[in-house]
Amino acid sequence: MPADCLFCRIVAGEIPADIVHRDDQVVAFRDIAPKAPTHVLVIPVEHVASAADLGAGHGPLLERMFAVAVERARADGVAETGYRLVTNVGDDAGQSVHHLHLHLLGGRKLDWPPG
Ligand code: AMP
Repeated sequence: MPADCLFCRIVAGEIPADIVHRDDQVVAFRDIAPKAPTHVLVIPVEHVASAADLGAGHGPLLERMFAVAVERARADGVAETGYRLVTNVGDDAGQSVHHLHLHLLGGRKLDWPPG
């Protein structure tokens, strides 16, 4: 784990977060600056910098990340109204933390395309 990775430090419990799910592969916690009533970040325990760094062996991990996101959408009561799962890659997309994360956004009408 890179010592300076914020999300690795959250996984390790070195930085507090509002964690809503944890298993051996995936951690999910509420975004510190929510952009919607539900804004949860779903991350791998393993340090992967972005979707661009995923490989063939990551299939089960991705399945688990999406399953956790879908479970959380149900638990937060946004499954019926709809939600967005998005991952930013690189500067133009606005990726600010270089540890793969799915944003789960819901609880309001979301614009498309995003700005
Ligand atoms: P991105 O810009 O796609 O890399 O998303 C990074 C997200 O991490 C942003 O939505 C931030 O608000 C969020 N974030 C940054 N620091 C923390 C933290 N300590 N706890 C929870 N979320 C954070």
